[in-house]
Amino acid sequence: MLPVQLIRKKRDGGALDDAEIRAFMNGVTDGSIPDYQVAAMLMAIFFRGMTEAELATWADAMTRSGDVIDLSRIARAKIDKHSTGGVGDKISIPLAPAVAACGVAVPMVSGRGLGHTGGTLDKLESIPGFRVDLPVEKFAELTDTLGVCMIGQTARIAPADKRLYALRDVTGTVESLPLIASSIMSKKLAEGIDGLVIDCKVGRGAFMKTIEAARALCALMRVIGQRAGKRITCVLTDMDAPIGRTIGNALEIRESIEVLRGGGPVDTRELTSVLGGEMLVLGGVAKDAAEGRAKIDRSLADGSALEVFRKVVEAQGGDPRVCDSPGSVLAKPKHRDELMLKPGRIVSIDSEALGIAALILGAGRRTKEDSIDPSAGLVVDAYPGEIIEPGGPPSVMLHHSLDPKDGRLAEARAMIENAFVIESTDNPAPALRGSRILEVIR
Ligand code: URA
Repeated sequence: MLPVQLIRKKRDGGALDDAEIRAFMNGVTDGSIPDYQVAAMLMAIFFRGMTEAELATWADAMTRSGDVIDLSRIARAKIDKHSTGGVGDKISIPLAPAVAACGVAVPMVSGRGLGHTGGTLDKLESIPGFRVDLPVEKFAELTDTLGVCMIGQTARIAPADKRLYALRDVTGTVESLPLIASSIMSKKLAEGIDGLVIDCKVGRGAFMKTIEAARALCALMRVIGQRAGKRITCVLTDMDAPIGRTIGNALEIRESIEVLRGGGPVDTRELTSVLGGEMLVLGGVAKDAAEGRAKIDRSLADGSALEVFRKVVEAQGGDPRVCDSPGSVLAKPKHRDELMLKPGRIVSIDSEALGIAALILGAGRRTKEDSIDPSAGLVVDAYPGEIIEPGGPPSVMLHHSLDPKDGRLAEARAMIENAFVIESTDNPAPALRGSRILEVIR
């Protein structure tokens, strides 16, 4: 069939069969179908959606558009975690070594930050020497021997997604749930995993603004995963405030090491323990989530997770002394500026705005080509429900190396101030959630 016939069929509400989808995806991958026809198909999918069978085949064809890493020689269960992206989301860094310390292998292929959310790769690269561009053979070897390896996506992993994503970005079709689900899952299924825990962020700072949208996306990702024979658990988590107390690459490594030492902020520890516990259940080393959580907590308290992280840092070329004295190894900013918020009770935080403020200070990229300052970012000591006392300690510290007269500094400060909704303490205290975990779908 000609591509135009497939586009017409989808446009008119028909379901594409297996051979039609695979032929179309071959044309996406080898470039024989031009951009305008691929874009027209994406728009037809945007409006018509996909049946479960179409979705599973579409995602499988995307996965097979490149290499599927073969980790079958690794005896341990291979389970990864994917997060849909949040501000201050450093969870992969303490999580992967903790899960490996408990006996499950974690082959982790991560992305870079773009826009207001950071990327695990940029965070890891703030450890001097740390390499994320290891060859696939080394990735498989370290996943086997250490139980974890963390690398970046190669050009050979799901290349069809690269083309489709670039076209979605400029044709108003990013927001299609089947297209988002297949994009995420195609890359994860190429990692050679047995199962996946998906941390689907919900709230102002997230892709999915409502719990209903998050549930719908998770249902599609589960269909794709289960039809590929993988075990999938989705955890819906609240993204109405930044995760932990730091935003920015080196700052987030420091906080991750605190978690690996059994400390760190309560929410960061909770996410590590809940997501890790679910990974241990999928990997068959915990009978239920409670046992999984307890094992993860133990690995953080007894230093075994930190020891795995130390070995990973060393094996990937980084300076392992970061585990003992992060302050002496990680880059330091030229300036640490205080920002005092007005006194009162914090009612809500626009975490997306804080993510953008950190980006403006140098922690992120506006375009893929921008370079980042690993030492830049924010330390946020102000959470919903907390009270800011007059003359109390500064609520936010800006870490940066900008010239004090640089206009970007004033821009970042204004964004941070506007990100906090602060009310008088005479008003009744808002009801606050004590936990980030909204729902677990097994
Ligand atoms: N992340 C992806 O990898 N793809 C999407 O479409 C959205 C988020």
